[in-house]
Amino acid sequence: MRRILGSLERSLALLNAIADGISARDKQGQLFFVNEALARMSGYPSAEAMLAVTPSELADRFALFDEQDTPVSLSAMPGHMALRGKVEPERIVRTHDRITGEDRWSAIKAQPVYGESGEVEFAVTITRDITAQKKQQILQEFLIAAGKALASSLDYKTTLANVAKLVTPKLADWCAIDLLDEQGGINRVAVAHVDPAKVAWAYELHQRYPPKTDSNTGVGKILRTGQTEYYPTITDEMLIAAAGSDNDLLAIAREIGFRASAAVPLTARGHTFGVITLVTTIDSGRYLSQEDVALAEELGRMAALAVDNAKLYEQTEAQRERFEVTLRSIGDAVIAADAQGVIELMTPVAEQLTGWKQTEAIGNPVSAVFKIVDESISVKSEPPTGVASPEPANLAIPNHTLLIKQRGQAIPIEHNASPIKDRHGNLTGEVLVFRDISERRRAERERLQLTRLLEAERRRLRNILENVPGMVWEGDLISENQALTYVNNYAEKLLGYSAADWMTIPGLGRQIIYPDDLATFIQQLRDTVERGQTAMTLRLQARAKDGRLVPIETYLTVTQDAAANPTVAYGLIMDITQRLDAENALRQYAHDLKRSNEELEQFAYVASHDLQEPLRMVTSYLQLLEQRYDSLFDKDAHEFINFAVDGATRMKALINDLLAYSRVKTDKRNFVSFTANEALTLALANLRTKIEDSQAQIISESLPTLMGNKNQFVQLFQNLISNAIKFRGESAPHIHISANRSGDDWVFAVQDNGIGIESQYLDRIFLMFQRLHPVGTYQGSGIGLTICKKVVEHHRGRIWAESKPGEGSTFYFTVPADANPH
Ligand code: ADP
Repeated sequence: MRRILGSLERSLALLNAIADGISARDKQGQLFFVNEALARMSGYPSAEAMLAVTPSELADRFALFDEQDTPVSLSAMPGHMALRGKVEPERIVRTHDRITGEDRWSAIKAQPVYGESGEVEFAVTITRDITAQKKQQILQEFLIAAGKALASSLDYKTTLANVAKLVTPKLADWCAIDLLDEQGGINRVAVAHVDPAKVAWAYELHQRYPPKTDSNTGVGKILRTGQTEYYPTITDEMLIAAAGSDNDLLAIAREIGFRASAAVPLTARGHTFGVITLVTTIDSGRYLSQEDVALAEELGRMAALAVDNAKLYEQTEAQRERFEVTLRSIGDAVIAADAQGVIELMTPVAEQLTGWKQTEAIGNPVSAVFKIVDESISVKSEPPTGVASPEPANLAIPNHTLLIKQRGQAIPIEHNASPIKDRHGNLTGEVLVFRDISERRRAERERLQLTRLLEAERRRLRNILENVPGMVWEGDLISENQALTYVNNYAEKLLGYSAADWMTIPGLGRQIIYPDDLATFIQQLRDTVERGQTAMTLRLQARAKDGRLVPIETYLTVTQDAAANPTVAYGLIMDITQRLDAENALRQYAHDLKRSNEELEQFAYVASHDLQEPLRMVTSYLQLLEQRYDSLFDKDAHEFINFAVDGATRMKALINDLLAYSRVKTDKRNFVSFTANEALTLALANLRTKIEDSQAQIISESLPTLMGNKNQFVQLFQNLISNAIKFRGESAPHIHISANRSGDDWVFAVQDNGIGIESQYLDRIFLMFQRLHPVGTYQGSGIGLTICKKVVEHHRGRIWAESKPGEGSTFYFTVPADANPH
C-alpha cells in the first residue's frame, strides 16, 4: 500500500510538475482531479481550491468560445465528449473569465478511460495554455488588418474611420478618434461602437461636452503631452470626480457603464495631432490589458504615420492643384520640362500658341514643340524700317522672336525661361513662359504708321505755312505784354520784323498797328464776338521796321479765354499795297467807263435829236425842189434827187434807231413784275401789219413772270420777231417763242425758219451798225440786236444766237429767275 501510495504521490508530483493542465472528471462530469497548472491557468490559488468549486459555479464564471467566437457549451467540450466515448482531435477554445475579464486560449484534448466492464469510467483532459501564441497571432492579424485599413484610402478621415471600425470589435467596445484642427480646436473625426446605433449618440456627446485643449486629463492633455492615458478599471468615484458638478454628464457616464479606458496619441514627426480613445463597458465585461494598450499605441503610431502621409499628400495635391490652376489661369503660355528638357506640362494657352496638344507634346523635347526663330533674321531681305524716312530711335520696333506653330504659321512672341532647382540647387527642370504679342505688334505698327502720317501731315502743314504769301501767326496779336506763339518766316518780308522778333517781343503787334486802326481793331473784335462770329477780316495800316506805313489786311480767328474775353487766336496778314493799287485803278476805270457811256448816250441823244431838224429841212427842201422844178430837171437830175431823198430817209431811220438805243436807260426804278407773255403780246400788236403781210405764223408757249423794265422787253421781243420776219426764207415765216428753266436762269428762245446766219458772224451781229447784207437788200440800220443786247445785259442776262444758214436761226437770251432787280 505504501508502495502504491508512494508511487501515487510520485505520479501526482509528476502531474503537478507538468506545465499543461490536467484534469479528470467522473461519469457525471464532476471534476475529481485537477493539477496545479490547470488551477493556476484558471485563476485559482491551488488545485484543491479549484476542486472545491461547484460545477455550476464554474459554468457561471467561464464563458467558452470557439475560434469563430461562437459560444461553446460545456457538453460539447472534449472532456464531456470523451465521457460519451467520443475522442476528438485537439480543440482550440477561448475561455473568458467573467470575474477578471481575462481571456485565455487553450488547446484541449480529452481521453476516455475504460473500466474492466469496457465502459467509460472517467475522462482525462489535457489543457495547454496557448494564450501567448494566440495573442501574438491576433496581434499580427490585427496589425495586418490595421495596415490594410490604413492603406485603404488617401483620405485620412476615411482611414481613421476604418481604424475606429477595426478597433471596436477587436480591442474595445468604443473607439473615438479626435484630431487637432488648424484653428487649434478638437474635432471628432471618427467614432465606432460595437452597437452602431450608439455612434450618433457618441457624436452628440462630443458636441455637448467638447474636449478642451487645456484640460488636465483626456484628449486635451494627451494632445499636449503625447503620453498615453490608461485606466484599467474605472470606478464610480472616478466618474464623479471627472464629471465635477455636471450631473447630466455623470448620468451619461454612468449610463455608458465605463469599465476601462485607454487613450493613445497620434504622433508623427514629433507632433501629436490626435488621440485614439478606447473604452470597454460593463456590458461586455471586457478589460483592457497592458498588451491591448501597447497594441493600441502601435496602432496609433501606424495611424499617425498614415494620416501624416495622407495630409502631406493632400497638401502636395492641393499645392499641385493650386499651381496648375494658377498656370492655367494666367494669360501666358507655360511649358514645363524636366531636367532633360522633356515636356511634362503645357497650359491651354501654350497649346493654342504652339498648335500642340498637351497629350501629344508630353514626352517630346521642348525644342520640338517650342520652335522659334529670330525675327530679325526672317525679315533680313526687307530693308530695315526707317531707311527711307529716318524715324526717331524710340519709334523703332525692337526685334522679337517668332514662334513657328505646328502647322508652320509664325507668330511674334515674347518669352523667358527659368530653371527649376531643388533645395540643393540641382537642376530639376525648366519653365518656359511666353506670350503672343501680335496684338501689341499690330498696335505698335499702327502707332508708328500714325506717327509717320502725323509727321508727314505736320511737314506738309509747315510747308504750307512757310509758303503762304502772308504772315501766319498764332497768339494774341494785340496783347500788350505777350509775344506771339508762332509766326512763319514770311513775317520778315511783310514788315521787316523776323519771326523771332514776333515770338520774343511782347506787344509788338500793338506797337506797330497805326493807332487809329488799333481802336477800330479792338472795336471790331468786340463786335465780332458779340455777333457770335469767330472770324473777321480787317484792313489796317502798320508801321514796318524801316518806318514805312504798310497797308495790310488781316484775317483772324477769334476765341474766348476762360473768362469769356475775346482773344485773338491765329490769323493771316497780307500786304495789300498792290491790291489797293489795283482796286483803285479798277475803280477809276469803272468810273471813267460810266462817264464815257453817259457821254455817249448823251451824245447819241443830242446827235439824233439835233440831227433830226436839219434832216427834215433837207428832205422838205428836196421835195420842194422836185415839185417846183420838175420840168426843168432832166432824167439824171431826178435820179440824183431820188438818191438824196433816199439817203435822207435812211439817215432818218438811223437817227431814230440811235435815239431808241440811247433811250434804253439803265435805270432800275422802272422795274416791275410782269409776265413775259404780256410783253410779247404788246410786241406782236406793234408788228401786226408786218405779220399779216408776211403771213407769219407765230407760236408762243407759256412764258414766266419777270421783274424788269416791261417796255424794254416789248422792244426786245419786237426786234427779234421783226428780224425773224425780215430775214425769212422762201416759205412763210414760222416763229416759235419759248422759255425754259436752266439753273438760276430762264432761257428764252426765239426760233425762226429764215435764211440763217453764217457761223462766223454769230457774234458780230450784236455790235452796233453791223449788218451782213448790202444796203437795199434788207432794210435796217444794224442797231436792233445792239439794243436787244443792251436790254438783256441791263437785266443781268446774256444773249446769243445759233443758226444753220438756209434752215433758220434761234436767238437765245437769259433772265435771272430770282426776278430781283439788279
Ligand atoms: P438790222 O436788222 O437793222 O440789219 P440788226 O442789228 O437787227 O440790224 O441785225 C443785224 C444783222 O443780223 C442783220 O442785218 C442780219 O444780217 C442779221 N440778222 C438779224 N436777225 C436775223 C435773223 N432772224 N435771221 C437772219 N439774219 C438775222
